[in-house]
Amino acid sequence: MANEPAQEYIQVTYKKPRPYRWAAGEYLSRLYRECRDNKRLMTVKCQHCNEHVWPPSKVCGRCKKPSGDNWVVVSDKGSVVQFTYTNFPMFDPHVGKYMTEEHPFATIDLDDCEIYWVAKLEEKDKDKLKPGMRVQAVWREEGRGGGLDHDILYFRTIEE
Ligand SMILES: [Zn+2]
Repeated sequence: MANEPAQEYIQVTYKKPRPYRWAAGEYLSRLYRECRDNKRLMTVKCQHCNEHVWPPSKVCGRCKKPSGDNWVVVSDKGSVVQFTYTNFPMFDPHVGKYMTEEHPFATIDLDDCEIYWVAKLEEKDKDKLKPGMRVQAVWREEGRGGGLDHDILYFRTIEE
């Protein structure tokens, strides 16, 4: 038993980039287009339970019925509920690279809806981070499309 060979792992190396595309579907595609083209968040309000469906979907995650076609604008302002600070390189699956800058991530309770969203914060000073702080999305000048993380850079602290 003591002299068993160590387990051999299989390693696969890819030498060429493998670009790919996929369909986000009717509802997510509309959200992504609104972010890219109009710098706003949109979703559907369920025709049965009247809750905001996030992310937008044909079927409501709460009542499991067709959510309908009542599209509404959602605020890009909110309050920080909780946050965490990473001190190690995080891999960003959206771009296939490690993030080089440290950013705190927060759960944000968006105004006037039932949506909680995890996003990066601009504020990096740990002493200035606190639950309840007010924040607003900072949109990329030229939207790249393809997802919220591409069109919103981070959430910035605001005074109200
Ligand atoms: Zn519903």
